[in-house]
Amino acid sequence: MNQATTQQQSSRQTAKRALVTGGSGGIGAAICRQLAASGHAVLIHANRQLDRAEALAAEIVAAGGAASALSFDVTDADATRAALEAELAHGAIQIVVNNAGIHADAVFPGMSATQWHSVIDVSLNGFFNVTQPLLMPMIRTRWGRIINISSVAAITGNRGQVNYSAAKGALHSATKSLALELASRKITVNAVAPGIIDTDMSEGSFDADAIKKMVPMQRAGRPEEVADLVGFLASDNAAYISGQIISINGAMI
Ligand code: NDP
Repeated sequence: MNQATTQQQSSRQTAKRALVTGGSGGIGAAICRQLAASGHAVLIHANRQLDRAEALAAEIVAAGGAASALSFDVTDADATRAALEAELAHGAIQIVVNNAGIHADAVFPGMSATQWHSVIDVSLNGFFNVTQPLLMPMIRTRWGRIINISSVAAITGNRGQVNYSAAKGALHSATKSLALELASRKITVNAVAPGIIDTDMSEGSFDADAIKKMVPMQRAGRPEEVADLVGFLASDNAAYISGQIISINGAMI
């Protein structure tokens, strides 16, 4: 293959419809901006902060991109399915970023059942509720990208986060199994495991000194840095990467 053909192939990227859960949050918003800049039509999902998703959609549209906002609670299977079916009436959603997440930290002896179930419900059951209804339409197109945002806590464990690391660790296993199921349909499934990223979620959990001690690069990551990785995984160029857990953590592990 000559160099010109290779370059042509590496720059080709067809616009797709993309859903980003938790697009109203810090990392999700950066992912929405990145996917929109790559030419995709982005469905910006929110739960309680629909106003933030709407403002982001307006910003993207004003910059010449395609975006709209929608809201549902990913733990509510019926509401999630209804919202997604309404969107699927306009065509398949070929990129899904399962990014919505919460934490409810407590050392395990003091962890309430609510803290346990709520975190599992958003990260793990939310992954099922969102991804499963999108799959058959995606499979029919023979092209898809499923990207699950997990956490370094799923790899190393973290005190006070038995619930969170269990939910994100289960997402890693689900990523690997689903990648095997979908490989022959040209759909990739990967997890991105961030370390400490500068958003509302991490604010208050770590001060600058703690970050310097924990992170060899001595700073928190930026949401845009996570978004660039997600953008690459969503691209045609990442067609042969699947079933992987990809860390982005400033050399923490
Ligand atoms: P934010 O708190 O900024 O955003 C969380 C997002 O999740 C919001 O958009 C929120 O929607 C949405 N969400 C929460 N609960 C629900 C629900 N029940 N149904 C639907 N959506 C819900 O967090 P980050 O941007 O920091 O985190 C994004 C992802 O990255 C999470 O999965 C998190 O676990 C992971 N992560 C973050 C790290 C960090 O340091 N920030 C490190 C490692 C992983 P709304 O606000 O509209 O209610």
